[in-house]
Amino acid sequence: MQPFIDAEELWGILKENEGPSKERVREVIARSLDKHRLSLAETAVLINADDPELIDEIKAGARVLKERVYGQRIVLFAPLYIGNLCTNNCSYCGFRTDNKKQERITLDHDQIVEQVTALEEAGHKRLILTFGEHPRYSPEFIAETVRTVYSVKKDHGEIRRVNINAAPLNIEGFKVVKASGIGTYQVFQETYHPSAYLDVHLSGQKRDYNWRLTALDRAQEAGIDDVGIGALMGLYDWRFEVMGLLRHVNHFEAVYNVGPHTISFPRIKTASGYAFNKQYEVSDADFTRLVAILRLAVPYTGMILTAREPAHIRDEVLQFGVSQIDGGTNIELGGYSKKGVAQNLDSEQFQINDNRSLEEVISELIKKDYIPSFCTACYRLNRTGEHFMEFSVPGFIKRFCQPNAMLTLAEYLEDYATPESKVKGYDLIEKNIENYTDETFKNKLLERLERVKAGERDLYF
Ligand code: SAM
Ligand code: SF4
Repeated sequence: MQPFIDAEELWGILKENEGPSKERVREVIARSLDKHRLSLAETAVLINADDPELIDEIKAGARVLKERVYGQRIVLFAPLYIGNLCTNNCSYCGFRTDNKKQERITLDHDQIVEQVTALEEAGHKRLILTFGEHPRYSPEFIAETVRTVYSVKKDHGEIRRVNINAAPLNIEGFKVVKASGIGTYQVFQETYHPSAYLDVHLSGQKRDYNWRLTALDRAQEAGIDDVGIGALMGLYDWRFEVMGLLRHVNHFEAVYNVGPHTISFPRIKTASGYAFNKQYEVSDADFTRLVAILRLAVPYTGMILTAREPAHIRDEVLQFGVSQIDGGTNIELGGYSKKGVAQNLDSEQFQINDNRSLEEVISELIKKDYIPSFCTACYRLNRTGEHFMEFSVPGFIKRFCQPNAMLTLAEYLEDYATPESKVKGYDLIEKNIENYTDETFKNKLLERLERVKAGERDLYF
């Protein structure tokens, strides 16, 4: 495959669009609000808009777009670390092979069951399983782990969607993992800049930039049309990374006729034995700005933000269209069953900055009128890949995502919420139902909510 990232080309586009006029910036924002994915040149215009007034307009644009496309629902998930053996040396990661301080653990079957049970008892329905890169974590091992997770059922609890964040595989390997029934397969490029990439990936398979860059093409070839891309912000200039992410989106659209399902933009955090090179540190101001720019650049792609960020940053960027967040996160191997233990970086990948429980995250979302969602309907009705794109049209969110968010929230309120959240959650649901003018649909939704209250589970549109 032809490499589709040309660093000089991307820098060239950034330079050509330096110092854009106010009119040009406003024109680009308007184009995005018309729900067009932006071109590289248009995105470069937003990236180069340094005037605080224009940055505010970009953020305001992202808020409007979020309202129009995503409504008020926020999808919740939890990461589950399965094993931290790793043969790579990514300088920024606590799991790197040279980090002798790291205690190496791979959860066995019973330990996985114990963790998933604890996650179900908190109310989770969607997990992302995470692995180091190691021969032990073969496609068969990953697939077996996925099957184990799906098999755990505690009371009304079950995991309905398992996503994966693991090393790139070959096509055969991706097929094996797909057969276990995964949702999204995520591989982050970390940095799209080839020489910056070599500076931090010191040894191991991951040092091969192109093998990683083409990972999700192999996933597509293997039939996984639900893929997640990402860049680790802080390894290179964030402006370039935003362009790299967009170039990756273009590539998928051009070759597979479907963009990635999600984009992640984790910001680098302290890790065991890792001294952060501050040269490319992304400030809070630039971070929130880049999230708003990405929202405008790719109106229809889900955006994920994790507990690496503190609650106040999460709250701000939720307004710009982050559509998925984790809640009650614990990234220690085996950590979900040991409640209340402080982070120990020598047995974890990096520092997290949002330690709120799932219940706390949910009750704060409700307070701000967001509808917490555990919906997994699209993936189970085969509305993935190209079909998902087709459904990302006006009305889809209102007809499917929002009602499904309410139904899954009602399940949570019945089974796991505190009495206070239960009252507030149902108030929020009622308020949202009032917005439906189609009486037939409204009645269908009300009828399903009643069935959830009566004990039925897993109802969706
Ligand atoms: N081993 C797999 C891989 O490298 O693709 C799984 C990756 S890891 C569990 C998930 C992501 O965490 C990485 O792709 C990287 O972007 C991110 N990460 C690693 N170290 C980090 C750090 N110090 N701070 C924030 N994120 C980090
Ligand atoms: Fe291993 Fe992934 Fe960490 Fe790199 S980021 S050291 S590949 S776990």
